[in-house]
Amino acid sequence: MKYQIYALHNFRQIPQISRLSEEDQFTIEVVGNVLPFKTNNYVVDELIDWDNYKKDPIFILNFPQKGMLKEEDFNHMAKVIKSGADKATIKTEANKIREKLNPHPAGQLEYNVPELNGEKLNGVQHKYNETMLFFPSQGQTCHAFCTFCFRWPQFSGMDDMKFAMSQIEHIIEYLKIHTEITDILFTGGDPMVMKGKFLDFYISKLLEADIPHLQNIRIGSKSLGFWPYRYLTDSDADEVLNVFEKVTKAGKSLAFMAHFNHYRELETEAVQNAIARIRATGAQIRTQSPLLNHINASSDIWSTMWQKQVKLGLIPYYMFIARDTGAQEYFGVSLANAWDIFQKAYTNVSGICRTVRGPSMSCTPGKVRVCGLTEVKGEKVFVLEFIQGRNSDWAARPFFAKYDDKALWMTDLKPAFGNENFFFEEDLSEILLK
Ligand SMILES: *Cc1c(COP(=O)(O)O)cnc(C)c1O
Ligand code: SF4
Repeated sequence: MKYQIYALHNFRQIPQISRLSEEDQFTIEVVGNVLPFKTNNYVVDELIDWDNYKKDPIFILNFPQKGMLKEEDFNHMAKVIKSGADKATIKTEANKIREKLNPHPAGQLEYNVPELNGEKLNGVQHKYNETMLFFPSQGQTCHAFCTFCFRWPQFSGMDDMKFAMSQIEHIIEYLKIHTEITDILFTGGDPMVMKGKFLDFYISKLLEADIPHLQNIRIGSKSLGFWPYRYLTDSDADEVLNVFEKVTKAGKSLAFMAHFNHYRELETEAVQNAIARIRATGAQIRTQSPLLNHINASSDIWSTMWQKQVKLGLIPYYMFIARDTGAQEYFGVSLANAWDIFQKAYTNVSGICRTVRGPSMSCTPGKVRVCGLTEVKGEKVFVLEFIQGRNSDWAARPFFAKYDDKALWMTDLKPAFGNENFFFEEDLSEILLK
């Protein structure tokens, strides 16, 4: 299958687009000038139900929606475009709106970049002891863009072998010193947009370095959802699968962390074949998704999704809460609702689907799970716990926040029982000062 990209400049060439009203087409143009927009022929031809596009979860996942901008911003942008403004003016106005959208949440950029010999290690984050994140520069885009995504400021890549070389050498040196690291997680963007030869290069270097404590090579990717032909008909499909097999043959685990937002993405023949081919390399596939209003905010969608995943041999891993960034007002689900959806879905599936953890927020102190709602001595509270803490000792200790039916994120919560601070806050400020 030939990969065809559709974006702002050519979306009117999508054969099905004429089914949209003029107004809906104009909406795509207005919002698409502010937020990243990219889709492809697989999503358009095999996933979206065009008869029902206004409510179709995959259409909403890829195509800009009016509600993603504040009304005043939408109207302003619409006016600028209708006035026939030139590209530069449109861009300036779009940037003003973008700046208000908090593109770098949870201290991602400031706090988590480690140092080696006194120098910042580019393209790496090391927040939790066991797992290092690696952002290969060739993987800083995706096969399509999710409308809810917060990573768009980093969507620009470098296709440079020389840079790759020095980068992986530094990473290996860092890994050798840090014996607590068992996992390296390739992330992006989407590392699976990178050419097979780059993937092979990085992974072969890691395997050749023979680092005994490095046990798991993880790859976080949305490619199974957005472009399963990556593993079927792309010219380097076999090369990619060979790389996966190299890992498992070397006695390490290749953990493919697949991002699926809706069970629709699991239903095509292409995705099912791609899953089978990846699994045949000995890789394990775990799944994750944020909980998103307008896309998957219902317990039935989640329980169906987990069941279909398990049937295909995938292991449900995370349900995330949508971050405090971008179009959170459009996609956000309150913590109370998130827990309700999780609980209803979880109680509807058998034990082998219950490997999933969530609903979880990836915030500055760590990954915080909403365990539930309860009442303690007449006070309604959220029960929370760390799945991962910036201090690893915080994990698995229940703590409490005042119930707030509007809270969307950790920063909206206050400690329960009249306490001034959460148990970890003093420790956290010390860690962040380091
Ligand atoms: C989620 C995450 C990880 C991986 O955590 P696991 O619980 O091992 O899946 C690692 N680093 C960062 C920054 C993360 O957000
Ligand atoms: S695939 Fe991942 S990084 Fe890419 S747009 Fe979607 S959420 Fe963002």
